[in-house]
Amino acid sequence: MPVNIAIDGPAGAGKSTAAKAAAKALGFIYVDTGALYRSVAYYVLSKGADCKNAAEVVPLLSEITPELKFIDGTQRVFLNGEDVSDRIRTPEISMGASAVSAIPEVRSFLFDLQRKIAAENNVIMDGRDIGTVVLPNADLKIFFTASPEERARRRHNELTEKGECVTFASVLAEVNERDYNDSHREIAPLKQAEDAVLCDNTDLNLEQSVEKVISMIKETISRKGLDI
Ligand code: C5P
Repeated sequence: MPVNIAIDGPAGAGKSTAAKAAAKALGFIYVDTGALYRSVAYYVLSKGADCKNAAEVVPLLSEITPELKFIDGTQRVFLNGEDVSDRIRTPEISMGASAVSAIPEVRSFLFDLQRKIAAENNVIMDGRDIGTVVLPNADLKIFFTASPEERARRRHNELTEKGECVTFASVLAEVNERDYNDSHREIAPLKQAEDAVLCDNTDLNLEQSVEKVISMIKETISRKGLDI
């Protein structure tokens, strides 16, 4: 049985950085499920449709084949055969992903793909509903969070390092809006699973949060006698 680790939490908590580093250290596959919602939003926007309008989004799903490929341990997301991994990292697509992810048909459309990868590989999978919906039997569930201001500060640094011109206030507003959308939607809202371990990394630096995640996973593997 593959080992499945679920990491959920709000936008910008550092889930992906910690999960990616831990996966590399342990030889697991890191699965970023947000990229799937982003690829749907990318397609919807490319068709000039409204990500918030289910009547416009749902018919487009039959035109989309998303795939996750792992090249040298790094996830790439393909949409109808085209690698869109780099193009889906814009603030517009973040908001679009948050909107399409509230549509039940979009969630069920992406469900099987996520489950299949976890059934076939040792994974660290990050998202919003991994511990609650996608992998309810995960070997370890971590709810990763940090204060909204700290998350906005990190996201702002990331975007300005990439040369994007955005203000801290607009990034904080986006973080707050996505938190609200993600935790108030009716289907699979962002929430800590009852059996998840809370990991607040507001006061931890990157190395410390990576170390913490790795040690939690190692401890679970040894306590449960899992075979990796
Ligand atoms: O993780 P990331 O910020 O890339 O996710 C983009 C959006 O996709 C989130 O704001 C959330 O609305 C949605 N999402 C989700 N469920 C997941 C992963 C992401 O609803 N498992």
